[in-house]
Amino acid sequence: MARILMYHGIVDAAKSAVIDREKGAELYDVKLEEFRKQLAWLKEQKYVLTMDISGREQEAVFTFDDGEKNNFNVVAPILQDLKAFGYFFVIADRIGRDGYLSWEDLARMKMAGMVIGSHGLTHGILTSLSEDGIREELTKSKFILESNLRCHIDCLSIPRGFYDERVVKIAKEAGYQKIFVSDKRPGFSDGCYERIAVKNDWTIKEFAAAVSGKMGFKMRLFTILKLLVRRILGDKLYDLIRSVLLRK
Ligand SMILES: [Zn+2]
Repeated sequence: MARILMYHGIVDAAKSAVIDREKGAELYDVKLEEFRKQLAWLKEQKYVLTMDISGREQEAVFTFDDGEKNNFNVVAPILQDLKAFGYFFVIADRIGRDGYLSWEDLARMKMAGMVIGSHGLTHGILTSLSEDGIREELTKSKFILESNLRCHIDCLSIPRGFYDERVVKIAKEAGYQKIFVSDKRPGFSDGCYERIAVKNDWTIKEFAAAVSGKMGFKMRLFTILKLLVRRILGDKLYDLIRSVLLRK
């Protein structure tokens, strides 16, 4: 399977321009300079940049969550220069807000061959909602995107990574064919695609290790512990504690 990379914003300055966002989002602000290094590494290793998520190992797929403005200003031109494309997952409620993509940006990106997908209506934690609540997030965001962009939206990226059987079932019923997650759990293979969350403090060595599946012991242990803590605490409590700790 291709290596699917999950980015958020690619930032030129030290800080992203988006003020109105969740605590911890800055952990995923990859600096432009680092992004260029990562692209160079992929090229050097002869990775093919593709949109085919079920492709071969030596292929890389780009995905971008949250729909930050820099996806249009910074990311899209770089991908176009490389004749590459990406999946861009937007939060329907935030389109056109300060620091986020506008409808015009999205239309132009779509015209250039980028794929636009849903990242929920409000970016809320789906697992803490009732079935009706989940349905509202997933169908309304899909409808808003489809009617404004006049195209079929069949990709979803799970907001903030929290999902369970109900979320996947409702997403499929809503018509999503590809569901992008950040960590794949046992029993969620059909239609769910695991991604590598690229973090802002990764050295090129850490990026290389994550992409080639040779994560060091420390990185692997951290990932396992995080999953374990999340499972024990439940998604909502985990998110709360995480945001309190990040505020410190
Ligand atoms: Zn997000």
